[in-house]
Amino acid sequence: MNITEHNANGVVYLTADGFRAAGGVAHGFSTRLGGVSEGIYASLNLGLNRGDDPAAVEENFRRFCAAVGTNVHSLAFSRQVHGDTVRTITAADAGKGLDSPVDYEADALITDVPGVALTVFTADCLPILLYDPVRRVAGAVHAGWRGTALGVVTRAVDRMVDCYGCERLDILAAIGPGISKCCFETHEDVPNAMTEAMGAAALPYIQVLPSGKFRLDLKGLNVRRLESAGLTQEHIAVSDDCTACLPEKYWSHRVTRGERGSQAAMIALV
Ligand SMILES: [Zn+2]
Repeated sequence: MNITEHNANGVVYLTADGFRAAGGVAHGFSTRLGGVSEGIYASLNLGLNRGDDPAAVEENFRRFCAAVGTNVHSLAFSRQVHGDTVRTITAADAGKGLDSPVDYEADALITDVPGVALTVFTADCLPILLYDPVRRVAGAVHAGWRGTALGVVTRAVDRMVDCYGCERLDILAAIGPGISKCCFETHEDVPNAMTEAMGAAALPYIQVLPSGKFRLDLKGLNVRRLESAGLTQEHIAVSDDCTACLPEKYWSHRVTRGERGSQAAMIALV
């Protein structure tokens, strides 16, 4: 399954071919391009709590939602805490984030309610969208290295099965733009967390550098997580875009040292 880039009135975003082919879902991964924010937030900043003008962020959401095909008043955000909590989103959560406060913490959102647009925010961490076109269930996951070690994407798949009766072989997954192995250099705490959590299965995704530091392939680790969760390889798409390599196209938390806007990944059943 491949990832395709689109440009809708200047809003540049990515989608997974398999999701589009299956139909019944609106989804997209945002880039920096196509919004109205200025300075370090230029231009399509979708992060509300990063110091940008709230009116500009709302306009950016209108543009991104129009491009993707979602309703700007039916978004469901969450307070992301690098954990592995999965929240089942109901109609009562629609609007939490942009229209009303978010009253829960979670790094994975799943739902079977049409129209609600599950939204996660990233700027190096991985956005992962999940879609079961048979049972009609959607998921959105925020996975940094802590979430990857905790297996947040595995927990999301498990909850889709337990809560909504999804079959693992029906589930499609798309890993969006995030920091790639080329740029994710770490100390030993990160590879240690991976091998503690995943054992030898993590080793192919860890490179030891001559400096004694490490490079980790977070995208590969999450593909491995998804395969272990029962998804087939053909149902997993991975964006090649590295947020740290492409500063004109994406915000990277590392590159900007935190002075940045945010990308969003969004999915809604239609
Ligand atoms: Zn890179």
